[in-house]
Amino acid sequence: MTEVAGRLEIGTEAFDYTLRRSARKTLGISVKPDGSVVVTAPEAAKVCQIEAILRKRASWILDKVDEAVLRTPPLPPRRYIPGETHYFLGRQYRLRVDPEARGTRREDDWIIVGGVPSDEPSRIRNRLMRWYEVQGYRIFSERLSACIQLFSSDFERPKLKIAEMERRWGSYVPTSHSLVLNHVLVQVPVPLIDYVITHELCHLPYPNHGPEFARLMGKLMPDHARRKANLELVFT
Ligand SMILES: [Zn+2]
Repeated sequence: MTEVAGRLEIGTEAFDYTLRRSARKTLGISVKPDGSVVVTAPEAAKVCQIEAILRKRASWILDKVDEAVLRTPPLPPRRYIPGETHYFLGRQYRLRVDPEARGTRREDDWIIVGGVPSDEPSRIRNRLMRWYEVQGYRIFSERLSACIQLFSSDFERPKLKIAEMERRWGSYVPTSHSLVLNHVLVQVPVPLIDYVITHELCHLPYPNHGPEFARLMGKLMPDHARRKANLELVFT
């Protein structure tokens, strides 16, 4: 099977794709979990014909690519043992366990989990996750207040929810007018949290990732592409 790299530009947006030739009779388009686009085309199809079809499906493809890259990359496995590195707002901390202390706190370069024995990783994990959630709620509320100022004043503030999400950084749920953020987001730097919140707020007027969505995002956050790229790098 032959493979060639292609790139399609649509207005201000573009995507790269891999073109595979096969014995199939119709054109197939798939967007992989990492956001890469694979186009499978019959041997006889001309590139201009393929491009015409891709152009017609462009907004669907761009949507899928965008959804894929907004998913969380797999986190490196954590063992929840003393001395291990954990993140908070993009900074590295080391984990300390203090069975005598109450609650969990941050001190210098340490996140100190109290009230649990140092050899019970599952209890340490639970405490740490609860702490992340409490910190997350406080920080996300502040950032939501800051980000919503970029929008017009008749914009109604959505309800904020934090969830353990497997594959996404955030989502906007129109039926309950709520913004759901991944609790893991509290581990990344504030500008990247702002990127996710702003992206989701842009879904209030525009549910899909069409040209109007892209225009609004570009206007409110001109460096959004760089932030998105950094977000993908955080845990790799
Ligand atoms: Zn989106």
